Amino acid sequence: AIDFKWIRDNKEAVVANIKNRNSNANLELVLELYEKMLNLQKEVERVRGERNVVANKMKGKMEPSERQKLIEEGKNLKEGLLVLEEDLVKLTDELQQEAQCIPNMTHPDVPIGGEDRSTIRKMAGSPPNFGFPAKDHLQLGKELDLFEFDAAAEVSGSKFYYLKNEAVLLEMGLINWTLSEVMKRGFIPLTTPEIVRSSILEKCGFQPRGANTQVYSIEATDQCLIGTAEIPVGGIHMDSIFSDSLLPLKYVAYSHCFRTEAGAAGTATRGLYRVHQFSKVEMFILCRPEESESYHQELIRIEEDLFSSLGLHYKTLDMASEDLGAPAYRKFDVEAWMPGLGRFGEISSASNCTDYQSRRLGIRYRPSEPVVSNTKKTKGNFAPPQFVHTLNATACAVPRMIICLLETYQQEDGSVLIPEPLRPFMGGLNVIAQK
Ligand code: AMP
Repeated sequence: AIDFKWIRDNKEAVVANIKNRNSNANLELVLELYEKMLNLQKEVERVRGERNVVANKMKGKMEPSERQKLIEEGKNLKEGLLVLEEDLVKLTDELQQEAQCIPNMTHPDVPIGGEDRSTIRKMAGSPPNFGFPAKDHLQLGKELDLFEFDAAAEVSGSKFYYLKNEAVLLEMGLINWTLSEVMKRGFIPLTTPEIVRSSILEKCGFQPRGANTQVYSIEATDQCLIGTAEIPVGGIHMDSIFSDSLLPLKYVAYSHCFRTEAGAAGTATRGLYRVHQFSKVEMFILCRPEESESYHQELIRIEEDLFSSLGLHYKTLDMASEDLGAPAYRKFDVEAWMPGLGRFGEISSASNCTDYQSRRLGIRYRPSEPVVSNTKKTKGNFAPPQFVHTLNATACAVPRMIICLLETYQQEDGSVLIPEPLRPFMGGLNVIAQK
């Protein structure tokens, strides 16, 4: 449940936050709808009370004419109540819809402003020194027969691809290696449904509709394709209350991701960089509120460990306020060097969503510590359930990882070396050579 009372009581901070995040949320409208809803709730209660009074009166003895009058009165009240209740449902829907756009609050250390204000937290590795002209993944893929773009364009449309030959092993190897690395760190593996109800998507803070939606909706249903496993994993514990001892819950989920990439025209879209469908391994944590900042650090450390093990040159960024999206309180992105493309490109993103998603999804836990009243602990008097915090982070988004690996490990003879850790996950393959 969105805490409208908190939003109303902290209006100034919420307004400043909306501005800092360059969000188009309409707080005035949300608060107006909230007041209307409170008034309508009162009215519904009042009419229900009146109807109960009439119902109670009917239990007594009375003249038939008097009874008839009461029956009429009860009928009118019931009809009026039905209309009011319908209005209340509509108003509540409108309020929820409007409130979806209000972004999460922002961590005090987040730099305020656009993408250029993001700060570098860490720089690792160094760009490879080839001593020969570096090729990009498109050229390498052509020479090594790893992709089919033209056929994919015919079969599916632009920004689709077939992987072929060793590229298939590379995708499978990356997924299996990443899963095994993350599972070693205590994460539970999952595969997920790749079609979800639009309502789950909304509760996770995504917009299934609108001109710039990234979401593919399925015609004549209320379902859509997932853009990330974060959505089905977020939904897996919807409407639950955990006992304290079950937290943290750490998942690592493998899924395909589908994105319309609306509004992405003009950005770097060559080859595998920005595609409509890709495989991804995603980490997701549910934890106690006081622990989410340290788990956020843990997630970014795991990402950095994985990318370092693969020998990539990368930088980690503390993302600026306008680049957080609605659900994140703070977000760390990793950008890796893509030698053939000659630039850094985003390969992962780790977000602390605090209670933004759990409020909407209804995921709570019951703190085990009894409430302390004055000095003595009151037996059996436990704190009420609280919303958990949720975090998500990319462990491996396959296509951009394929770009990094092909371009980083290319050799002068046109072959590409497979980084050591992946070899056991690719049947011992250590090099992709021309056929
Ligand atoms: P996001 O969930 O938007 O933070 O994306 C997570 C990661 O998925 C990004 O860091 C990219 O590595 C990758 N990614 C996102 N969109 C695409 C796309 N359209 N094509 C290929 N990879 C993508």
